Amino acid sequence: MRRLLIAGNWKMHKTVGEAIELVRELKNLVSDVTDRDILVCPPFTALYPVSQELRGSNIDLGAQNMFYELEGAFTGEISPLMLKDVGCSYVILGHSERRHIFGETDELINKKVLSALENGLIPILCVGETLEDRESGKTKEVVERQIKEGLKGISSEEFVIAYEPVWAIGTGRTATPEQAQEVHEFIRSIIEGMFSKNVADRVRILYGGSVKPNNAADLLAMPDIDGALVGGASLKADSFSKIVKFD
Ligand code: PEP
Repeated sequence: MRRLLIAGNWKMHKTVGEAIELVRELKNLVSDVTDRDILVCPPFTALYPVSQELRGSNIDLGAQNMFYELEGAFTGEISPLMLKDVGCSYVILGHSERRHIFGETDELINKKVLSALENGLIPILCVGETLEDRESGKTKEVVERQIKEGLKGISSEEFVIAYEPVWAIGTGRTATPEQAQEVHEFIRSIIEGMFSKNVADRVRILYGGSVKPNNAADLLAMPDIDGALVGGASLKADSFSKIVKFD
């Protein structure tokens, strides 16, 4: 019922030349995939050249962040209009690196989510607990706050959630399929409470945190895991295409 979405977050990696080389290879490897959505999120500098390379392919383009204003005196920021202009259809918001390294708050992330939706971009709202939160039994409390604050005031149902336990990102330590499923099911119940059963049944909830070709199938077999947000393993066409084509 929910179409799988496999998304690659390239973070601060790849020059323009390297980005083009990666998507050329990826396009060939996944050209036969029709039953799931594929997304790449390069750094800002590579968005336009990658969008040209992706024309006519089955791979969508997304950004890793944006500011909520459309234009103005916001040195160093990028607006949703600019992302649309270079061919983005998705934007990752509230990634744990934005929250923890750059101090982004739920309030700021909410403004970005609202602006993305108003401007025709699909936000991928990232949520997840730290190791300290998990060990002190606060996983659900933290995730619930991030979801409720992040989605406050939205009227569109065109959003994606990514559950990314902070302790699993870039660490090689993956949540077990059961640990991930428990939180995904909980997130779906929060969405149902905030919106409706219909919205909760349709919203895609991705898992992120050291997803690799050898663990993707087990994670994606869980009933409430509707795709993956992949960091490190999306930087090579071979490993990302294997995750895309897991079975
Ligand atoms: C991420 O960046 O969202 C991520 C999950 O990274 P990794 O797959 O490298 O853990």
